[in-house]
Amino acid sequence: MYTKDWLSKWAIYNPDKIAIEEYETERNLTYSYLNTNAIKLVALLRAWNVTKGDRVLVVAEHSLELVTLFGAAQKCGIIIVPVNYRLAPAEIDFLIENCSPALILHDRQFLQKVALLKNARSIHTEILEDLSALIEKIAIKETEPVSLREDDPLFILYTSGTTGFPKGAIYTYKMLFWNSLNTTMSLALTPNDHTINCMPAFHTGGWNVLLTPMLHRGATVGIVKKFDAEHLLNLLDQQQSTVFMGVPTMLKMMMDAPAFDKVKLEKLRYFIVGGEALPHPVIKRWHNKGISIRQGYGLTEVGPNLTSLHQEDAERKLGSIGKPNFYVEAALFDENMQEVRPGEIGEFCLRGEVVTPGYWQNEEATREAISDGWFRTGDLMEKDDEGYLYVVDRKKCMFISGGENVYPAEVERVLISAEGVSEVAVVGVPDDKWGEVGKAYIVIKEGYKTDGIQSFCCDKLAKFKIPKYFVTIDELPKNDSGKIDRKALKTLHYES
Ligand code: ATP
Repeated sequence: MYTKDWLSKWAIYNPDKIAIEEYETERNLTYSYLNTNAIKLVALLRAWNVTKGDRVLVVAEHSLELVTLFGAAQKCGIIIVPVNYRLAPAEIDFLIENCSPALILHDRQFLQKVALLKNARSIHTEILEDLSALIEKIAIKETEPVSLREDDPLFILYTSGTTGFPKGAIYTYKMLFWNSLNTTMSLALTPNDHTINCMPAFHTGGWNVLLTPMLHRGATVGIVKKFDAEHLLNLLDQQQSTVFMGVPTMLKMMMDAPAFDKVKLEKLRYFIVGGEALPHPVIKRWHNKGISIRQGYGLTEVGPNLTSLHQEDAERKLGSIGKPNFYVEAALFDENMQEVRPGEIGEFCLRGEVVTPGYWQNEEATREAISDGWFRTGDLMEKDDEGYLYVVDRKKCMFISGGENVYPAEVERVLISAEGVSEVAVVGVPDDKWGEVGKAYIVIKEGYKTDGIQSFCCDKLAKFKIPKYFVTIDELPKNDSGKIDRKALKTLHYES
């Protein structure tokens, strides 16, 4: 049906085109070199006895070596497990126990952390940066191609753990193929597109942004190891990037950077943003600069790129995540798995090629998440008459105050429009009278106060939705993908 080893094809079609640029080290790899290095890396992995189905745990930032490892995976069937390098050693040990890797690859900067891993002591470990030198010494020779099936896993991606213990979502070749095709179609990507990836390598978004432009288009992707708003704006301008994919926090930080007013970003067709709700004032500010914003939506276990709102609809359908991508089967279900009508709230469920087969070594979690082939996202949404989807909130964030459902996202949308509010998060906290009430944590701009905020909400929200408590905070706690860490806010409430 399709080729899994797409890299070898681009090495024939596009040999001299740059596939990957690493700005920090000023290195790059053409498709031909990337392919050759991947073949040599397969030989190296074989020498280390790492073969099809073996897990390779990676503790690293983006690098040419990591992309080469990805290319090698398609040629020999290893399963890559990129983990968050900010995790504590005990947390990484938990993941090692879960996925039993045959090899650990890590950046030199994480040497000390890896040395503290108790479960890694008997596992072969190598420094990722050293791979380039090792590869240099290997003579290229043709080897028997490994047969790969579309249901074979390519990655295990651990969810960020905002809901409890990390679960390893299995990401297959089939998912990669259909996600890439969906994204290429919905974003109308061309071989001449250029993007810069600054989503972390351990996050589904990091692989999506990296691989999508390459897989179906043979385009050039730049990588930066760490997100820095000022640097990124200048880089996007200098490199004449045409598309950028990121999360709302990145857009907000870029908006506040000094370079925001200076750079023209003339070649940029649009920014595509997903991962959490994008506040409307942020969309408007970028529009005023003449930059189009496309809303997207996705998750680790499915896609990850599942919906998209065309930039022309950005103002008309403000706040919508658009319509499901072409090869995505999606529905909004009630508790009995019956489809709800337009305007009614239902749980967003997905089926088909883009859905994970389940969580690694965790049948219970798999059974909970997938029923009758439908993956239950836990996200509550509504659809308008034209089929545009709107995220109402996560099921688990909703709380009940005096018998009424309160969706924090709805309250946050109102609060963010109050003058002086730069960021806000609302959580439900216990209350003797109402069962639960809202507590708003607000980051306020210098010179402003939260005094009038409660009355500001009065004509915009029903009384039961207006938070009982308003607390100012210097910074909202965020996880590594830049999302608000609501668990940490709840802990803060109990500690105060
Ligand atoms: P965990 O699964 O550990 O709780 P997580 O849910 O943040 O962490 P991800 O897979 O990174 O894991 O994120 C997927 C979730 O992000 C979605 O289920 C949804 O709740 C949210 N999300 C993604 N895109 C959007 C968007 N455009 N608007 C609102 N929410 C979004």
